[in-house]
Amino acid sequence: MELWFTEKQTPTYGITAKIKETYVSEQTEFQKLDMIETEEFGTMLVLDGMVMTTDKDEFVYHEMVAHPVLYTHPNPKKVLVVGGGDGGVIREILKHPSVEKAVLVDIDGKVIEYSKKYLPNIACGLDDPRVEVIVNDGFMHIHDHKNEYDVVMVDSTEPVGPAVNLFTRGFYQGIYDSLKEDGIFVAQTDNPWFTPDLIANVNRDVKEVFPIVRVFWANVPTYPSGLWTFTMGSKKYDPLEVDESGIPEIDTKYYSPRLHKAAFVLPKFVEDLVK
Ligand code: SAM
Repeated sequence: MELWFTEKQTPTYGITAKIKETYVSEQTEFQKLDMIETEEFGTMLVLDGMVMTTDKDEFVYHEMVAHPVLYTHPNPKKVLVVGGGDGGVIREILKHPSVEKAVLVDIDGKVIEYSKKYLPNIACGLDDPRVEVIVNDGFMHIHDHKNEYDVVMVDSTEPVGPAVNLFTRGFYQGIYDSLKEDGIFVAQTDNPWFTPDLIANVNRDVKEVFPIVRVFWANVPTYPSGLWTFTMGSKKYDPLEVDESGIPEIDTKYYSPRLHKAAFVLPKFVEDLVK
């Protein structure tokens, strides 16, 4: 008997993956958590029926959340990750020697616990001495920490359930206030095929708060449509004004100094969403 996991990415369209084994299937305080072994993508973390990360393609998303923003800020020392309980973004942040402290705030400790156990290659940085892991609502944390961070990264689930507040103008204002005077933030902002309005609305809201707003994209095969966007809001530094010759070749498989600016070149139908 074959077992398949299907994610309905819209009410009438989805992806399906053949399962070898189910490690965890648990209703946590905040969401349904499944950790499964798939034939194609290896170990897969699923929250509320949505693919969060997989052994095979995780590097794309985690590198693209971390490196464009960390190579735009000239000297990032204190970094906050909202969400990101699988640890992938933290692992990438630790490749930057300028970072003295990386704080991870995820609302669900079970994501952290099971990621450490079943996704060791992704969660490997969570025990680094430079890392502080806090189990809390990122929305609350942001409002309790003003003028504190050089960079804030929002690696949250979709705007449903516990993450619904993480896509609001009030949250972006809170991020602005939690950043230092030359701080930058980046957030995952979903896909233009199935959630064009989300991208357009986030762009509108971030532009009301930050003077510099840029959108870039990457190919994440297990995310809805595979074309994934990220929105950067900056108080001072523009990612398109970075001198790529100053970006080192580090241990990555997707991001590179050559890709830094190229990622901001959007297909026209996406440009039209963020004009
Ligand atoms: N890369 C994935 C994506 O783009 O959908 C996100 C992966 S990461 C596992 C998402 C994390 O956001 C989850 O661990 C979830 O617990 C966390 N999260 C959701 N709402 C949150 C909130 N209000 N504060 C902090 N973390 C939150």
